[in-house]
Amino acid sequence: MKQIENAGAHLIHVDVMDGHFVPNISYGATVMKSLCGRTQMPFDVHLMIENPDQYIGDFVTEQTEYITVHQEACRHINRTVQHIRSMDVKPGVAINPGTPVSALEYVLEDADLILIMSVNPGFGGQKYIPECTEKIQELKEIIDKEELDVDIQVDGGINDSTLETVMDAGANLLVAGSYVFNGDLASNVQRIQEKIEN
Ligand code: ZN
Repeated sequence: MKQIENAGAHLIHVDVMDGHFVPNISYGATVMKSLCGRTQMPFDVHLMIENPDQYIGDFVTEQTEYITVHQEACRHINRTVQHIRSMDVKPGVAINPGTPVSALEYVLEDADLILIMSVNPGFGGQKYIPECTEKIQELKEIIDKEELDVDIQVDGGINDSTLETVMDAGANLLVAGSYVFNGDLASNVQRIQEKIEN
């Protein structure tokens, strides 16, 4: 974490998996909280869990900037987004590859971030699903047309070639796992920064 911070990463993306919403278990709030104060990077929490409302409060720390929940996991997504905002955290809404952008229509104005999943969530190291590019473009058009202040985040299969694709389509927050953490972390982050600047 220190290595990527020193190399210039902006956020630490926290992938929380519960073994129900996704077929894998990662870690929970206790592990995340143990990182508090060990980095200056804000936490960008991605809850891949059932009943997120029940756990949102556990992930609120002074370092938590975003909490993103899945549209598919929330029965009352508007209420959940308001709940996150009421805790002084920026709310995000994620959609899986099989969920259309239209599912976000009535929550766009209330969210600070939309996360387009470009793999089926649950495991690292998966390949980018090309159909997601169209979804990023579609979302970007709506955000521009309605003049909304919403970040477009992409998570899954980001590497040298897909990074350009998703940025061209309109994404401005990129999540990278394997691409950063395999090999030399600092030079990986620097290479990504250079690509973004170019
Ligand atoms: Zn994630």
